[in-house]
Amino acid sequence: MTSILRITLAVISGFAGLAALYLIRSPGSVAHAKAFEICAVTLLIAATLLSTVWDTLRTAKPAPEALPVSPDEAPAGDIPSDPVQTEVTKLLTMLRQHADANGNFSTVLERAKEELHESLRAEQVRIIISYLMIENDKMKARTSNLQANLETSQKQIEKLKTNLATAEAQGLSDPLTGLKNRRGFDVVLAAHLATARSGGQPLSLVIADIDHFKSINDRYGHPAGDDVLKWFAKILSSNVKGRDTVARYGGEEFAIVLPATPIDNAFKIASQIKAQLEAQFWQKPGAPNTLLRVTASFGVAQLAENEGTSALVAKADSKLYEAKQAGRNRVAA
Ligand code: GH3
Ligand code: MG
Ligand code: MG
Repeated sequence: MTSILRITLAVISGFAGLAALYLIRSPGSVAHAKAFEICAVTLLIAATLLSTVWDTLRTAKPAPEALPVSPDEAPAGDIPSDPVQTEVTKLLTMLRQHADANGNFSTVLERAKEELHESLRAEQVRIIISYLMIENDKMKARTSNLQANLETSQKQIEKLKTNLATAEAQGLSDPLTGLKNRRGFDVVLAAHLATARSGGQPLSLVIADIDHFKSINDRYGHPAGDDVLKWFAKILSSNVKGRDTVARYGGEEFAIVLPATPIDNAFKIASQIKAQLEAQFWQKPGAPNTLLRVTASFGVAQLAENEGTSALVAKADSKLYEAKQAGRNRVAA
C-alpha cells in the first residue's frame, strides 16, 4: 500500500471515529455501546495506518548524522577512493539501518504489549494482531533485503581480494619472461636472507648477463631480441629447482637466488648453464635457417656474515664484471 493511500484511509477512519464520537454524545440516534466500539476501532485503524506511514518515511530517510554517508548518495568528491573502504562503508550503513529497524520493531512490540494489558476487547485484540503482522512482514522484508545485500557485499569483497592478489603478483613479475622482476627479486632475496640468517644456512646468488645482446637486437630486430630473452629465461629456469628463484634483474641481466646453496654448487649451476648455451642455438621464430649461438657471462657470490642483500648483489655484480673483462662466456666466483 502506498503512503498516500494509507494517509487517505487514515483520514477516512479518523473521520469515522469522530463521527462515532459525535454519536456517543447523541445517545438517541445509535446504541451507545456500539458507537463506542466503532469509535475505538476506527481511531485505532487511523493510528495504525499513520504509524506505518511514519515508519516508512523514517526508514526511507535515515538521520544523516547517525549514519555514514552511503557511497551512492555521497557527492562525487566525497566518494572514498579505496574500494575496500567503500564496501565496508556500505556494510556499516546496511547494518545500522537494520539495527534502527530492529529498534522500531521492538518499540512496536512493547507498545502492543502495553495495549494488550489495558484493552481486552476481541475486536481490539484482532486489530493489534493485524498491526503486529504488518510490522512483522516489514521486518521480514528488511531482513531478507539485508541478507541479499550482505551476500552481494561479500562477493564484491572476494572479487576485490582476488584483484588485489593479481595486481600484486603482476607488480612483482616480468610480463615478457614471466619471471620475477626486479621488485620480485628484492622481495625474494630479502626473504631468503632472513631464512639463511635464522637457519645458519648458506645463500648464493648468480647474476647472468647475455653477451653482446645489443648486437642481436641490431642484427635481428627488437622482437627477435625479446624472443632471445624468453628463450634464455627458459634455459635458466630449467636448471633450477625447489626454492631456487630465477628473476629478470633488468634488460638482458638475470639473477638466480639459491638458498641453502654454498658457492661451489652455485658455480656448478652457472657452469652447467654456460655449457648448455654453448651446445645449442637460438632459432629465430619463423626463420628455421636463422640460427645463433648465444653466450652469457656469470658472476657468482655467497652471502657472508653481517652482509645485507645489497652487499651480496654488489659482490655478484663485481664478479660478473670480471667475467666480462676476462673475455665473456665465462663464470667468475
Ligand atoms: P655486454 O656483452 O657487455 O653485456 O654487451 P651487451 O650488448 O649485452 O650490453 P649493453 O648494455 O651494451 O646492451 C644491452 C641491450 O639490451 C641494450 C638494450 O636496448 C637491450 N635491451 C634491454 N631490455 C630489452 C628488452 O626488453 N628487449 C630487447 N629486445 N632488448 C632489450
Ligand atoms: Mg649484456
Ligand atoms: Mg647488461
